[in-house]
Amino acid sequence: MKKEKIETENKKSISTQIAIIGGGLAGLACSIRLAKAGLEVILIEKNTYPFHRVCGEYISNEALDYVKSLGINPFDFGAVSLDKFWLSSPSGNKLELDLPLGGFGISRYTLDYELSKIAKKEGVEIWDGIFVKDVLNTNKLNDTNKKNESKFLIETSNGTIGSQIVIGSYGKRSNLDNKLQRDFSSKNFPYIGVKYHLKTDLMPNNVIALHNFWRGYCGISRIEDDKFCFCYLSHKDNLTDFKKVENIEKQLFTDNPFLSKILKEAEFLYEKPEIINQISFSPKKLIEDDILMCGDSAGMITPLCGNGMAMALHSSKILSDLLINHFDNQISFKSLKKEYQKRWNHQFQLRLKAGRTVQHFFGGRKSSEFLINTFKHVPSVARKVVSLTHGKSF
Ligand SMILES: Cc1cc2nc3c(=O)[nH]c(=O)nc-3n(C[C@H](O)[C@H](O)[C@H](O)COP(=O)(O)OP(=O)(O)OC[C@H]3O[C@@H](n4cnc5c(N)ncnc54)[C@H](O)[C@@H]3O)c2cc1C
Repeated sequence: MKKEKIETENKKSISTQIAIIGGGLAGLACSIRLAKAGLEVILIEKNTYPFHRVCGEYISNEALDYVKSLGINPFDFGAVSLDKFWLSSPSGNKLELDLPLGGFGISRYTLDYELSKIAKKEGVEIWDGIFVKDVLNTNKLNDTNKKNESKFLIETSNGTIGSQIVIGSYGKRSNLDNKLQRDFSSKNFPYIGVKYHLKTDLMPNNVIALHNFWRGYCGISRIEDDKFCFCYLSHKDNLTDFKKVENIEKQLFTDNPFLSKILKEAEFLYEKPEIINQISFSPKKLIEDDILMCGDSAGMITPLCGNGMAMALHSSKILSDLLINHFDNQISFKSLKKEYQKRWNHQFQLRLKAGRTVQHFFGGRKSSEFLINTFKHVPSVARKVVSLTHGKSF
């Protein structure tokens, strides 16, 4: 009762040039670049920093220079280099590969928190612990976006924000997808994601491993502080059949000798795992009602590619460059939308398609066995798949 009263008294109504909904990597990176360019930015995040989230926490090196350009060197915070890849089938048939570009491991708890501190320092007004309930485009017909006029009204749990531009970087699935009646929002999606941190001496420090189990796969790799991230994607039918995630692990991980050993011998550091459901890899519209989508809310690549964070960061670069030009009067809003779509398709469309195709081979006993044997006998196919699902440094 008391809390509600305080919240009501503190409710705000303010306006800004750019409002960013969602403070994951896409939103934080956009906010830092836009604030560095002198623009007024409010970023709204429903959780309070720092916090854990479901993610494999392996970042492709294609994003390293960009992350550094935002003001953080992940290796100063304990990031670990990863340059080898292991892939196993549910029965334990294992493939080992060198990763040509490689990546690094760092927890989202640390990375997102450090980026949020940089954003604050650059002048971004961060509303964390605040939930966006709805976004209203008050001038749908005006495609030109008059400067200094708020075209959008954002209703949050902390009051209302008027904004000239809205970036939707709210991740894979949100209440806002329903509010915006996005094409995929009424569908049910068949995947759940589960994450733990653990300590183990069963894994080398430089390896990212992907171990298949029936209707799912699990990634394991090093992060900071001698910890490993252990994160899996499972078809929701496993949850229907086994009722709880603990039962999925007990019943299905035991078939795969690598998973079984880790499950038995590693020290799991959380009491409970982080869990998300309703994960969608369907194509999405990049711009909805003039809201510019960025990161997973624009399109999500299957986690087996280990490329979602790099893509979220890359899309933030493309979008923030265009927005800086827009506020500099170099490009109209109409042209910005066209150019954003063009550059986004060029960078990501093929990668998302390749990720969806390869995912069909994962989580099946015969199909993952077939994939691993093909990669073993024709290594050039494995190299081609890695190159199709990854980009270049940006
Ligand atoms: C199981 C699994 C494993 C993965 N492993 C990897 C990996 O190893 N490597 C890799 O590169 N990628 C991986 N990914 C993908 C990666 O996590 C995403 O691509 C990346 O996090 C996208 O960043 P984002 O900023 O778009 O979204 P997010 O990081 O999801 O951030 C969105 C933010 O928006 C906030 N939000 C949502 N709705 C609202 C609202 N209404 N109001 C306020 N805030 C809101 C959320 O709280 C969240 O913080 C994995 C994904 C899954 C599901």
